[in-house]
Amino acid sequence: MSGDMRILVIDDMAVMRKIVVKQLENLGYKNIETAENGKDGLAKILDGVKNNNPVQFIISDWNMPEMSGLELLKTLKSKKPLADIPFLMVTAEGEKDQIMAAIAAGVTNYVVKPFSPNTFKEKMDLVLKKVGLPATPA
Ligand SMILES: [Mg+2]
Repeated sequence: MSGDMRILVIDDMAVMRKIVVKQLENLGYKNIETAENGKDGLAKILDGVKNNNPVQFIISDWNMPEMSGLELLKTLKSKKPLADIPFLMVTAEGEKDQIMAAIAAGVTNYVVKPFSPNTFKEKMDLVLKKVGLPATPA
């Protein structure tokens, strides 16, 4: 798997989606999809299950219209086959309550905006290690 791992990047800001996708590409990932909010992301995750092409890693913003990152995380945790997808939450600086709530809801790890490429790679590798997957390819 590794570089072919199917990653879903969810953020309501196009600029943030672009930044995360670029950093993932720099880390050697090629199979990246994006969604604009939790609802859009959930639809893509469910489609992946239906089409036997499951999302294998989720990177999601917290603050989004329609469905927040926390709502998405809680929804996934309540659906057995989806509960195990590694979930990296992106939170805004200074929102410690969000981090605590995300941890309580079972997030795999979190990264605080704005983050450097090094921090992003570190967080990716922490999540991958925690779920027993190979480290970032590049
Ligand atoms: Mg947002």
